[in-house]
Amino acid sequence: MTTPKELFASVAQYDPNALPVEAAQDIVRQWAMPRGANTPSERVSLHDALGRVLAEDVISPIDVPAFDNSAMDGYAFAATAVTAVTGGGATVELPVAGTAFAGRPFVATSGGRECVRIMTGALMPPGCDTVVPQEQVTREGDTIRFAVTGIRAGQNRRLAGEDLAKGKPALTAGRIVRASDLGLLASLGIGEVAVRKRLVVAFFSTGDELRSIGETLSAGSVYDSNRYTLFAMLRRLGVDTLDLGIVRDDRASLETALRHATHSADIVISSGGVSVGDADFTRGLLNSLGEVAFWKIAMRPGRPLAFGRLWSGERAGAGSSALFFGLPGNPVAVMATFYFIVREALLAMSGAQRQALTALRARAAEPMKKRAGRTEFQRGIATREADGGWRVVTTGPQGSGVLSSMSEANCFIVLEHARGDIDAGDDVEIVPFDGLI
Ligand code: AMP
Ligand code: MG
Repeated sequence: MTTPKELFASVAQYDPNALPVEAAQDIVRQWAMPRGANTPSERVSLHDALGRVLAEDVISPIDVPAFDNSAMDGYAFAATAVTAVTGGGATVELPVAGTAFAGRPFVATSGGRECVRIMTGALMPPGCDTVVPQEQVTREGDTIRFAVTGIRAGQNRRLAGEDLAKGKPALTAGRIVRASDLGLLASLGIGEVAVRKRLVVAFFSTGDELRSIGETLSAGSVYDSNRYTLFAMLRRLGVDTLDLGIVRDDRASLETALRHATHSADIVISSGGVSVGDADFTRGLLNSLGEVAFWKIAMRPGRPLAFGRLWSGERAGAGSSALFFGLPGNPVAVMATFYFIVREALLAMSGAQRQALTALRARAAEPMKKRAGRTEFQRGIATREADGGWRVVTTGPQGSGVLSSMSEANCFIVLEHARGDIDAGDDVEIVPFDGLI
């Protein structure tokens, strides 16, 4: 375990009160070490492996395909026989010796100038190495005729092991299992894989004004929406969630919640209570429970954000530890900071290989206000243009409390730290929501 002193060494070179986004991401990356190789893994069946992180390499026990087979419906023959006899001449005529179906091979030797009617996926008959597609052939009775020009020896034949070779890793540890991987594992005859135990993430909302669904809203109160967006984003990342509800704005309640969360989870996420008005008592508390790496990021939305490590014991370094993200309370800020700051830490601690977010270049279809000196994550609606490029407009007012802007948008428009106002026609970077796990 890294000592608090070492942890701070990585922060010293920055101003912890206004970190550029990239610097904050760097620090989070350094602190969010994957749980060690001794992390318990579990074996799950293929269906349950979807979205999980592979705990070890999967070595292919067989060649896939296991045998040479045809990639087309057509006729199989020996290329040498054809070219030798015709000398590359215009047309060739071959007798049809039989038929090879997928799963029903034709094994009588087809020697010399014979061919075999063959279906896609059927075993290549002995002696045959080349397939001519049926569309290129005229058949009369048991004889076919086709033009030799353009025929390549070995064409339309899938070689044994060309997809996956026996003994080679088919998938590597840290892979997040996707749809194609389930099929690939099935093609190897593998019905179970070892996956990392899911990360446990505890989260809660803070604020005296917050009410849960089902409660009546009194003057000045709002429904707690952050626990729902957080729940959804965490679920999509494949972690186990522990919803600790709403915590009142007082030191004792917050301390109890943080200790309980740290004791029960690998990562603790709170929302609210880190902006200037609340920062003081939160700051005092966090400093007594652990170390805080930074408090503010030069980003909008999302400026107040506390990140550090907490201990469940009586003092820092005692008991069990958890990474802590104190997200801002504003609903859009919660989502933006989750995607650009928290997400990568969760993946890293899950033992997953790094998954870069998909970023595209788009043309701004309207001017956008932007202040230099912070990265802005505006909500955008991107559409495809006739020339294949992307154009993007904002969803309108960019207040960090306007959650409907997230529902309306299909991407973040990421405006870099140093950049000022954007003119219509300028290139900007967009990160499509669909690329966000
Ligand atoms: P805070 O960061 O605690 O100062 O909160 C900033 C703004 O976000 C305030 O308007 C809060 O009412 C609002 N807010 C905080 N937490 C939540 C929540 N869980 N759901 C909806 N709005 C919230
Ligand atoms: Mg608050």
